[in-house]
Amino acid sequence: MTQNASPQPAASHAERLSPGDLVGLLRQRHRERGRHSTAMLVLHLNRSDKLYALSQAPDARDVLVEVSRRLRKRLRAVDRYAFVTPDEVWILLCDIPNVAMGELAARTMRESLMRPVQIQTANDSKRLVQMRPVVGGCFAPSGGLADPMTVVNSAAEAAVRARTNDDHVLLSNLDTDDAIVHRDTLERELRTALFGNELEVYFQPQVDLATGHCKSAEALIRWLRPDGTSVNPDLIASVCEERGMMANLTQFVINCALRNMMTWQAMGIEIGVGINLSAVTLTDASFPALVAQSLETWSIKPQRVTLELTESSIVQHEISAIEFMGELKALGCSLAIDDFGTGYSSFSYLRKFPLDELKIDQSFVRNIARDKGDRQIVSALIDLAHTFEMVANAEGIEDLAALAVLEELGCDIGQGYFYSRPLPPDQFLTWYREHQASVTACS
Ligand code: C2E
Ligand code: MG
Ligand code: MG
Repeated sequence: MTQNASPQPAASHAERLSPGDLVGLLRQRHRERGRHSTAMLVLHLNRSDKLYALSQAPDARDVLVEVSRRLRKRLRAVDRYAFVTPDEVWILLCDIPNVAMGELAARTMRESLMRPVQIQTANDSKRLVQMRPVVGGCFAPSGGLADPMTVVNSAAEAAVRARTNDDHVLLSNLDTDDAIVHRDTLERELRTALFGNELEVYFQPQVDLATGHCKSAEALIRWLRPDGTSVNPDLIASVCEERGMMANLTQFVINCALRNMMTWQAMGIEIGVGINLSAVTLTDASFPALVAQSLETWSIKPQRVTLELTESSIVQHEISAIEFMGELKALGCSLAIDDFGTGYSSFSYLRKFPLDELKIDQSFVRNIARDKGDRQIVSALIDLAHTFEMVANAEGIEDLAALAVLEELGCDIGQGYFYSRPLPPDQFLTWYREHQASVTACS
Protein backbone atom coordinates (compact mmCIF):
# COMPACT_ATOMS: atom_id res chain seq x y z
CA MET A 1 0.00 0.00 0.00
CA THR A 2 2.43 2.65 -1.19
CA GLN A 3 1.35 6.19 -0.55
CA ASN A 4 2.75 9.66 -0.90
CA ALA A 5 5.95 10.10 1.16
CA SER A 6 5.61 13.88 1.56
CA PRO A 7 7.27 15.33 4.67
CA GLN A 8 4.33 17.73 5.12
CA PRO A 9 1.40 15.35 5.26
CA ALA A 10 -2.09 16.64 4.86
CA ALA A 11 -3.72 13.57 6.45
CA SER A 12 -5.24 13.86 9.91
CA HIS A 13 -3.65 10.65 11.11
CA ALA A 14 -0.38 8.83 10.69
CA GLU A 15 -0.12 7.24 7.25
CA ARG A 16 0.93 3.75 6.41
CA LEU A 17 3.75 3.58 3.83
CA SER A 18 5.73 0.81 2.20
CA PRO A 19 9.05 0.10 4.00
CA GLY A 20 10.90 1.54 0.98
CA ASP A 21 8.94 4.80 1.12
CA LEU A 22 9.51 5.06 4.85
CA VAL A 23 13.27 4.81 4.36
CA GLY A 24 12.94 7.30 1.47
CA LEU A 25 11.21 9.75 3.77
CA LEU A 26 13.93 9.31 6.39
CA ARG A 27 16.56 9.99 3.71
CA GLN A 28 14.67 13.09 2.55
CA ARG A 29 14.47 14.50 6.06
CA HIS A 30 18.15 13.91 6.64
CA ARG A 31 19.00 15.56 3.34
CA GLU A 32 16.95 18.58 4.32
CA ARG A 33 18.91 18.76 7.57
CA GLY A 34 15.78 20.24 9.15
CA ARG A 35 15.50 21.77 12.56
CA HIS A 36 13.73 18.75 13.93
CA SER A 37 14.93 15.35 14.97
CA THR A 38 13.47 11.97 14.11
CA ALA A 39 13.26 8.61 15.81
CA MET A 40 13.04 5.34 13.98
CA LEU A 41 11.35 2.51 15.86
CA VAL A 42 11.49 -1.18 15.02
CA LEU A 43 8.56 -2.96 16.62
CA HIS A 44 8.50 -6.75 16.86
CA LEU A 45 4.94 -7.82 17.62
CA ASN A 46 5.83 -11.39 18.67
CA ARG A 47 2.32 -12.54 17.81
CA SER A 48 1.06 -15.73 19.37
CA ASP A 49 -0.27 -16.67 15.90
CA LYS A 50 3.03 -15.78 14.25
CA LEU A 51 3.35 -18.88 12.11
CA TYR A 52 -0.27 -18.67 11.11
CA ALA A 53 0.15 -14.99 10.26
CA LEU A 54 3.18 -15.69 8.16
CA SER A 55 1.23 -18.16 6.09
CA GLN A 56 -0.92 -15.12 5.15
CA ALA A 57 -4.20 -16.68 6.36
CA PRO A 58 -7.01 -14.14 5.80
CA ASP A 59 -8.14 -14.02 9.43
CA ALA A 60 -4.51 -13.64 10.54
CA ARG A 61 -4.34 -10.51 8.41
CA ASP A 62 -7.22 -9.06 10.46
CA VAL A 63 -4.74 -8.65 13.28
CA LEU A 64 -2.80 -6.18 11.14
CA VAL A 65 -5.93 -4.10 10.69
CA GLU A 66 -6.34 -3.92 14.46
CA VAL A 67 -2.63 -3.21 15.01
CA SER A 68 -2.90 -0.38 12.45
CA ARG A 69 -5.94 1.02 14.24
CA ARG A 70 -4.24 1.02 17.61
CA LEU A 71 -1.03 2.55 16.25
CA ARG A 72 -2.91 5.33 14.46
CA LYS A 73 -4.68 6.18 17.69
CA ARG A 74 -1.34 6.77 19.38
CA LEU A 75 0.69 8.26 16.53
CA ARG A 76 0.55 11.88 15.39
CA ALA A 77 -0.37 13.01 11.88
CA VAL A 78 3.30 13.69 11.03
CA ASP A 79 4.37 10.15 11.92
CA ARG A 80 4.57 7.27 9.46
CA TYR A 81 4.60 3.49 9.80
CA ALA A 82 5.18 0.44 7.60
CA PHE A 83 4.62 -3.29 7.97
CA VAL A 84 7.86 -4.99 6.99
CA THR A 85 6.47 -8.43 7.76
CA PRO A 86 3.23 -9.45 9.50
CA ASP A 87 5.28 -9.49 12.69
CA GLU A 88 7.47 -6.40 12.29
CA VAL A 89 6.51 -2.74 12.03
CA TRP A 90 8.80 0.23 11.38
CA ILE A 91 7.64 3.55 12.76
CA LEU A 92 9.10 6.92 11.92
CA LEU A 93 8.42 9.54 14.56
CA CYS A 94 8.95 12.90 12.92
CA ASP A 95 9.79 16.15 14.68
CA ILE A 96 10.41 14.84 18.15
CA PRO A 97 12.53 16.95 20.48
CA ASN A 98 14.55 14.31 22.31
CA VAL A 99 15.10 10.63 22.94
CA ALA A 100 12.87 10.65 26.05
CA MET A 101 9.85 11.58 23.91
CA GLY A 102 10.68 8.71 21.59
CA GLU A 103 10.82 6.32 24.53
CA LEU A 104 7.51 7.57 25.81
CA ALA A 105 5.89 7.03 22.41
CA ALA A 106 7.41 3.55 22.21
CA ARG A 107 6.08 2.60 25.65
CA THR A 108 2.60 3.96 24.90
CA MET A 109 2.37 2.01 21.68
CA ARG A 110 3.69 -1.13 23.29
CA GLU A 111 1.07 -0.89 26.05
CA SER A 112 -1.73 -0.38 23.54
CA LEU A 113 -0.68 -3.59 21.77
CA MET A 114 -0.54 -5.71 24.90
CA ARG A 115 -4.32 -6.22 24.95
CA PRO A 116 -5.25 -9.38 23.01
CA VAL A 117 -6.87 -9.00 19.60
CA GLN A 118 -10.04 -10.97 18.99
CA ILE A 119 -10.50 -12.31 15.48
CA GLN A 120 -13.21 -14.23 13.73
CA THR A 121 -11.88 -17.41 12.15
CA ALA A 122 -13.06 -18.91 8.85
CA ASN A 123 -15.40 -21.35 10.63
CA ASP A 124 -17.01 -18.45 12.53
CA SER A 125 -15.46 -19.17 15.89
CA LYS A 126 -13.56 -16.48 17.79
CA ARG A 127 -9.86 -16.60 18.54
CA LEU A 128 -7.62 -14.44 20.70
CA VAL A 129 -4.23 -13.35 19.42
CA GLN A 130 -1.80 -12.15 22.06
CA MET A 131 1.19 -9.96 21.28
CA ARG A 132 4.37 -9.59 23.27
CA PRO A 133 5.75 -6.44 21.64
CA VAL A 134 9.41 -5.46 21.83
CA VAL A 135 10.46 -2.01 20.62
CA GLY A 136 13.93 -0.88 19.65
CA GLY A 137 14.64 2.57 18.38
CA CYS A 138 17.21 5.01 17.22
CA PHE A 139 16.98 8.73 17.87
CA ALA A 140 18.64 10.80 15.13
CA PRO A 141 19.21 14.46 15.98
CA SER A 142 18.47 17.20 13.48
CA GLY A 143 21.06 18.09 10.87
CA GLY A 144 22.61 14.64 11.02
CA LEU A 145 24.48 13.02 8.19
CA ALA A 146 23.82 9.38 8.95
CA ASP A 147 22.79 7.09 6.18
CA PRO A 148 19.12 6.06 6.73
CA MET A 149 20.07 2.39 6.76
CA THR A 150 22.50 3.11 9.62
CA VAL A 151 19.54 4.53 11.54
CA VAL A 152 17.34 1.54 10.67
CA ASN A 153 20.10 -0.94 11.55
CA SER A 154 20.71 0.83 14.84
CA ALA A 155 17.01 0.61 15.66
CA ALA A 156 16.97 -3.09 14.70
CA GLU A 157 20.02 -3.74 16.89
CA ALA A 158 18.26 -1.96 19.78
CA ALA A 159 15.17 -4.15 19.21
CA VAL A 160 17.32 -7.26 19.63
CA ARG A 161 18.82 -5.86 22.86
CA ALA A 162 15.35 -4.80 24.08
CA ARG A 163 14.30 -8.46 24.26
CA THR A 164 16.29 -8.82 27.47
CA ASN A 165 15.33 -5.39 28.84
CA ASP A 166 12.85 -5.29 31.71
CA ASP A 167 10.23 -3.22 29.87
CA HIS A 168 11.11 -4.47 26.35
CA VAL A 169 11.75 -0.94 25.11
CA LEU A 170 15.19 0.39 24.22
CA LEU A 171 16.14 3.48 22.23
CA SER A 172 19.71 4.27 21.28
CA ASN A 173 20.77 7.85 20.87
CA LEU A 174 22.53 8.12 17.56
CA ASP A 175 24.89 11.01 17.48
CA THR A 176 24.84 10.82 13.72
CA ASP A 177 28.20 12.38 12.91
CA ASP A 178 29.86 10.31 15.62
CA ALA A 179 28.23 7.17 14.25
CA ILE A 180 29.71 7.80 10.84
CA VAL A 181 33.14 8.50 12.31
CA HIS A 182 32.78 5.35 14.42
CA ARG A 183 31.89 3.22 11.40
CA ASP A 184 34.70 4.82 9.38
CA THR A 185 37.20 3.99 12.12
CA LEU A 186 35.80 0.49 12.42
CA GLU A 187 36.06 -0.01 8.68
CA ARG A 188 39.69 1.11 8.66
CA GLU A 189 40.61 -1.14 11.57
CA LEU A 190 38.66 -4.06 10.13
CA ARG A 191 40.33 -3.70 6.75
CA THR A 192 43.76 -3.81 8.41
CA ALA A 193 42.75 -6.78 10.58
CA LEU A 194 41.19 -8.71 7.69
CA PHE A 195 44.11 -8.26 5.33
CA GLY A 196 46.60 -8.70 8.17
CA ASN A 197 45.07 -12.08 9.12
CA GLU A 198 44.15 -10.83 12.59
CA LEU A 199 40.61 -12.22 12.50
CA GLU A 200 39.83 -15.72 13.72
CA VAL A 201 37.22 -18.35 13.06
CA TYR A 202 35.64 -20.17 15.99
CA PHE A 203 33.64 -23.39 15.77
CA GLN A 204 30.40 -24.20 17.58
CA PRO A 205 29.45 -27.90 17.75
CA GLN A 206 26.24 -29.16 16.17
CA VAL A 207 24.98 -32.40 17.66
CA ASP A 208 22.87 -35.16 16.14
CA LEU A 209 20.07 -35.36 18.70
CA ALA A 210 19.23 -38.99 17.93
CA THR A 211 22.73 -40.32 18.65
CA GLY A 212 24.29 -37.54 20.73
CA HIS A 213 27.33 -37.44 18.43
CA CYS A 214 28.77 -34.20 17.13
CA LYS A 215 28.47 -34.31 13.36
CA SER A 216 29.32 -30.77 12.37
CA ALA A 217 30.23 -27.28 13.55
CA GLU A 218 29.26 -23.75 12.58
CA ALA A 219 32.15 -21.47 11.64
CA LEU A 220 31.75 -18.03 13.23
CA ILE A 221 33.96 -15.00 12.75
CA ARG A 222 35.78 -13.50 15.74
CA TRP A 223 37.81 -10.33 16.03
CA LEU A 224 39.74 -9.70 19.20
CA ARG A 225 41.35 -6.30 18.99
CA PRO A 226 44.85 -5.62 20.39
CA ASP A 227 43.28 -3.63 23.27
CA GLY A 228 41.47 -6.80 24.38
CA THR A 229 37.98 -5.74 23.23
CA SER A 230 36.04 -7.94 20.85
CA VAL A 231 33.69 -6.76 18.12
CA ASN A 232 30.20 -8.20 17.73
CA PRO A 233 30.16 -10.58 14.70
CA ASP A 234 26.87 -9.10 13.48
CA LEU A 235 28.58 -5.70 13.39
CA ILE A 236 31.62 -7.14 11.56
CA ALA A 237 29.29 -8.62 8.95
CA SER A 238 27.27 -5.42 8.58
CA VAL A 239 30.37 -3.19 8.16
CA CYS A 240 31.84 -5.65 5.64
CA GLU A 241 28.57 -5.67 3.74
CA GLU A 242 28.19 -1.89 3.77
CA ARG A 243 31.83 -1.12 2.90
CA GLY A 244 32.41 -3.70 0.17
CA MET A 245 34.54 -6.17 2.15
CA MET A 246 32.12 -9.08 2.35
CA ALA A 247 33.75 -11.14 -0.40
CA ASN A 248 37.06 -10.94 1.47
CA LEU A 249 35.46 -11.86 4.79
CA THR A 250 33.62 -14.84 3.34
CA GLN A 251 36.72 -16.07 1.53
CA PHE A 252 38.72 -15.72 4.75
CA VAL A 253 36.16 -17.75 6.72
CA ILE A 254 35.93 -20.44 4.03
CA ASN A 255 39.70 -20.83 3.88
CA CYS A 256 40.06 -20.96 7.68
CA ALA A 257 37.21 -23.45 8.04
CA LEU A 258 38.43 -25.74 5.25
CA ARG A 259 42.04 -25.60 6.42
CA ASN A 260 40.96 -26.78 9.87
CA MET A 261 38.74 -29.45 8.35
CA MET A 262 41.75 -30.75 6.46
CA THR A 263 43.83 -30.88 9.65
CA TRP A 264 41.05 -32.77 11.46
CA GLN A 265 40.57 -35.04 8.47
CA ALA A 266 44.23 -36.06 8.71
CA MET A 267 43.49 -37.10 12.33
CA GLY A 268 40.56 -39.22 11.18
CA ILE A 269 37.92 -36.68 12.24
CA GLU A 270 35.39 -36.13 9.49
CA ILE A 271 32.93 -33.45 10.47
CA GLY A 272 30.87 -31.03 8.42
CA VAL A 273 31.08 -27.25 8.67
CA GLY A 274 28.40 -24.58 8.29
CA ILE A 275 29.47 -21.24 6.82
CA ASN A 276 27.36 -18.07 6.95
CA LEU A 277 26.79 -16.16 3.73
CA SER A 278 25.53 -12.61 3.52
CA ALA A 279 22.97 -11.06 1.19
CA VAL A 280 25.55 -9.46 -1.11
CA THR A 281 27.21 -12.84 -1.70
CA LEU A 282 24.04 -13.93 -3.49
CA THR A 283 24.78 -11.41 -6.21
CA ASP A 284 28.41 -12.48 -6.61
CA ALA A 285 28.43 -14.63 -9.73
CA SER A 286 32.03 -15.71 -9.13
CA PHE A 287 31.27 -17.16 -5.68
CA PRO A 288 30.38 -20.77 -6.65
CA ALA A 289 33.66 -21.06 -8.61
CA LEU A 290 35.58 -19.73 -5.60
CA VAL A 291 33.96 -22.35 -3.38
CA ALA A 292 34.89 -25.07 -5.88
CA GLN A 293 38.47 -23.85 -5.92
CA SER A 294 38.72 -23.76 -2.11
CA LEU A 295 37.28 -27.28 -1.82
CA GLU A 296 39.92 -28.52 -4.22
CA THR A 297 42.73 -26.63 -2.51
CA TRP A 298 41.95 -28.14 0.90
CA SER A 299 40.77 -31.54 -0.41
CA ILE A 300 37.40 -31.31 1.25
CA LYS A 301 34.34 -33.11 -0.10
CA PRO A 302 31.57 -30.59 -0.93
CA GLN A 303 29.02 -32.75 0.90
CA ARG A 304 30.67 -31.71 4.15
CA VAL A 305 30.06 -28.01 3.61
CA THR A 306 26.74 -26.34 4.39
CA LEU A 307 26.23 -22.76 3.30
CA GLU A 308 23.84 -20.81 5.50
CA LEU A 309 21.61 -18.12 4.05
CA THR A 310 19.10 -16.00 5.91
CA GLU A 311 15.55 -15.50 4.75
CA SER A 312 16.06 -11.76 4.40
CA SER A 313 18.99 -12.21 2.02
CA ILE A 314 16.96 -14.59 -0.13
CA VAL A 315 14.06 -12.14 -0.17
CA GLN A 316 16.35 -9.29 -1.23
CA HIS A 317 17.79 -11.22 -4.17
CA GLU A 318 15.08 -13.71 -5.02
CA ILE A 319 15.84 -13.91 -8.76
CA SER A 320 19.61 -14.31 -8.52
CA ALA A 321 19.20 -16.61 -5.49
CA ILE A 322 17.65 -19.41 -7.54
CA GLU A 323 20.58 -19.66 -9.94
CA PHE A 324 23.12 -19.04 -7.20
CA MET A 325 21.74 -21.82 -5.01
CA GLY A 326 21.45 -24.15 -8.00
CA GLU A 327 25.16 -23.73 -8.73
CA LEU A 328 26.17 -24.41 -5.13
CA LYS A 329 23.95 -27.49 -5.06
CA ALA A 330 25.47 -28.67 -8.34
CA LEU A 331 28.88 -28.53 -6.65
CA GLY A 332 27.52 -30.91 -4.02
CA CYS A 333 27.31 -28.46 -1.07
CA SER A 334 24.28 -28.36 1.24
CA LEU A 335 22.20 -25.26 1.84
CA ALA A 336 20.61 -24.13 5.08
CA ILE A 337 18.12 -21.38 5.83
CA ASP A 338 19.33 -19.60 8.96
CA ASP A 339 17.35 -17.84 11.73
CA PHE A 340 14.09 -19.22 10.36
CA GLY A 341 11.00 -17.72 12.00
CA THR A 342 12.39 -14.24 12.59
CA GLY A 343 11.76 -12.71 9.20
CA TYR A 344 9.41 -13.44 6.38
CA SER A 345 9.08 -17.15 7.14
CA SER A 346 7.56 -17.67 3.77
CA PHE A 347 6.65 -21.30 3.31
CA SER A 348 6.86 -20.84 -0.43
CA TYR A 349 10.63 -20.32 -0.15
CA LEU A 350 11.01 -23.75 1.35
CA ARG A 351 9.32 -25.22 -1.69
CA LYS A 352 10.98 -22.99 -4.27
CA PHE A 353 14.62 -23.21 -3.21
CA PRO A 354 16.81 -26.31 -2.96
CA LEU A 355 17.29 -26.11 0.81
CA ASP A 356 18.55 -29.04 2.88
CA GLU A 357 18.38 -27.69 6.42
CA LEU A 358 16.12 -25.38 8.38
CA LYS A 359 17.77 -23.63 11.32
CA ILE A 360 15.14 -22.64 13.86
CA ASP A 361 15.97 -19.27 15.34
CA GLN A 362 17.22 -19.30 18.89
CA SER A 363 14.57 -16.84 20.09
CA PHE A 364 12.02 -19.70 19.90
CA VAL A 365 14.34 -22.29 21.40
CA ARG A 366 15.76 -20.56 24.45
CA ASN A 367 12.58 -20.73 26.54
CA ILE A 368 11.01 -23.74 24.90
CA ALA A 369 10.75 -25.69 28.15
CA ARG A 370 8.89 -22.84 29.86
CA ASP A 371 6.87 -21.23 27.08
CA LYS A 372 3.99 -23.17 25.56
CA GLY A 373 3.74 -20.82 22.55
CA ASP A 374 7.42 -21.25 21.68
CA ARG A 375 7.06 -25.01 22.00
CA GLN A 376 4.14 -24.98 19.54
CA ILE A 377 6.06 -22.83 17.08
CA VAL A 378 9.15 -25.04 17.23
CA SER A 379 7.02 -28.16 16.87
CA ALA A 380 5.37 -26.68 13.76
CA LEU A 381 8.75 -25.64 12.33
CA ILE A 382 10.19 -29.14 12.82
CA ASP A 383 7.15 -30.63 11.05
CA LEU A 384 7.50 -28.04 8.31
CA ALA A 385 11.17 -28.93 7.80
CA HIS A 386 10.31 -32.62 7.58
CA THR A 387 7.43 -31.97 5.18
CA PHE A 388 9.93 -30.35 2.82
CA GLU A 389 12.44 -33.14 3.46
CA MET A 390 14.77 -30.83 5.29
CA VAL A 391 16.81 -31.45 8.40
CA ALA A 392 15.61 -29.44 11.41
CA ASN A 393 18.37 -27.76 13.41
CA ALA A 394 17.55 -25.90 16.64
CA GLU A 395 19.89 -23.05 17.57
CA GLY A 396 20.29 -21.66 21.08
CA ILE A 397 19.88 -24.74 23.29
CA GLU A 398 20.94 -23.40 26.65
CA ASP A 399 19.80 -26.09 29.09
CA LEU A 400 18.93 -29.75 29.46
CA ALA A 401 15.20 -28.98 29.72
CA ALA A 402 15.22 -27.36 26.26
CA LEU A 403 17.16 -30.29 24.83
CA ALA A 404 14.65 -32.76 26.27
CA VAL A 405 11.73 -30.94 24.60
CA LEU A 406 13.54 -30.82 21.26
CA GLU A 407 14.31 -34.53 21.41
CA GLU A 408 10.67 -35.24 22.18
CA LEU A 409 9.57 -33.08 19.22
CA GLY A 410 11.84 -35.02 16.85
CA CYS A 411 14.34 -32.27 16.08
CA ASP A 412 17.35 -33.65 14.18
CA ILE A 413 20.25 -31.40 15.12
CA GLY A 414 20.95 -29.08 18.05
CA GLN A 415 23.41 -26.30 18.74
CA GLY A 416 23.81 -24.04 21.74
CA TYR A 417 25.66 -23.06 24.89
CA PHE A 418 24.37 -26.21 26.60
CA TYR A 419 26.84 -28.16 24.49
CA SER A 420 29.43 -25.48 24.02
CA ARG A 421 30.02 -21.87 23.08
CA PRO A 422 31.89 -21.28 19.81
CA LEU A 423 35.52 -22.32 20.40
CA PRO A 424 38.90 -21.65 18.78
CA PRO A 425 39.99 -24.64 16.62
CA ASP A 426 42.32 -26.28 19.16
CA GLN A 427 39.76 -26.04 21.98
CA PHE A 428 37.05 -27.31 19.63
CA LEU A 429 39.20 -30.37 18.92
CA THR A 430 39.60 -31.05 22.66
CA TRP A 431 35.85 -30.57 23.22
CA TYR A 432 35.05 -32.85 20.28
CA ARG A 433 37.25 -35.70 21.51
CA GLU A 434 35.91 -35.53 25.06
CA HIS A 435 32.33 -35.29 23.89
CA GLN A 436 32.58 -38.19 21.45
CA ALA A 437 34.33 -40.33 24.06
CA SER A 438 31.64 -39.66 26.65
CA VAL A 439 28.82 -40.41 24.18
CA THR A 440 30.51 -43.66 23.12
CA ALA A 441 31.06 -44.64 26.77
CA CYS A 442 27.37 -44.07 27.57
CA SER A 443 26.03 -46.01 24.59
P1 C2E B 1 24.06 -17.10 13.34
O1 C2E B 1 24.61 -17.56 12.03
O2 C2E B 1 22.63 -17.37 13.60
O3 C2E B 1 24.97 -17.78 14.46
C1 C2E B 1 24.50 -18.24 15.68
C2 C2E B 1 24.77 -17.23 16.75
O4 C2E B 1 24.13 -17.65 17.95
C3 C2E B 1 26.25 -17.10 17.11
O5 C2E B 1 26.46 -15.76 17.50
C4 C2E B 1 26.37 -18.01 18.33
O6 C2E B 1 27.46 -17.69 19.17
C5 C2E B 1 25.05 -17.72 19.00
N1 C2E B 1 24.63 -18.80 19.88
C6 C2E B 1 24.79 -20.12 19.69
N2 C2E B 1 24.25 -20.82 20.69
C7 C2E B 1 23.71 -19.93 21.55
C8 C2E B 1 23.00 -20.06 22.79
O7 C2E B 1 22.77 -21.14 23.31
N3 C2E B 1 22.59 -18.91 23.37
C9 C2E B 1 22.86 -17.69 22.83
N4 C2E B 1 22.42 -16.59 23.47
N5 C2E B 1 23.52 -17.53 21.65
C10 C2E B 1 23.95 -18.65 21.03
P2 C2E B 1 27.68 -14.90 16.96
O8 C2E B 1 28.91 -15.74 16.80
O9 C2E B 1 27.73 -13.69 17.81
O10 C2E B 1 27.20 -14.52 15.51
C11 C2E B 1 26.10 -13.71 15.30
C12 C2E B 1 25.73 -13.64 13.86
O11 C2E B 1 26.76 -12.98 13.10
C13 C2E B 1 25.57 -15.00 13.19
O12 C2E B 1 24.30 -15.52 13.52
C14 C2E B 1 25.72 -14.61 11.73
O13 C2E B 1 24.53 -14.07 11.24
C15 C2E B 1 26.75 -13.50 11.80
N6 C2E B 1 28.06 -14.08 11.47
C16 C2E B 1 28.94 -14.70 12.27
N7 C2E B 1 30.03 -15.11 11.57
C17 C2E B 1 29.79 -14.75 10.28
C18 C2E B 1 30.53 -14.91 9.04
O14 C2E B 1 31.59 -15.51 8.99
N8 C2E B 1 29.96 -14.39 7.92
C19 C2E B 1 28.74 -13.76 7.93
N9 C2E B 1 28.25 -13.28 6.80
N10 C2E B 1 28.03 -13.59 9.07
C20 C2E B 1 28.55 -14.10 10.22
MG1 MG C 1 24.39 -19.21 11.02
MG1 MG D 1 21.17 -18.40 13.24
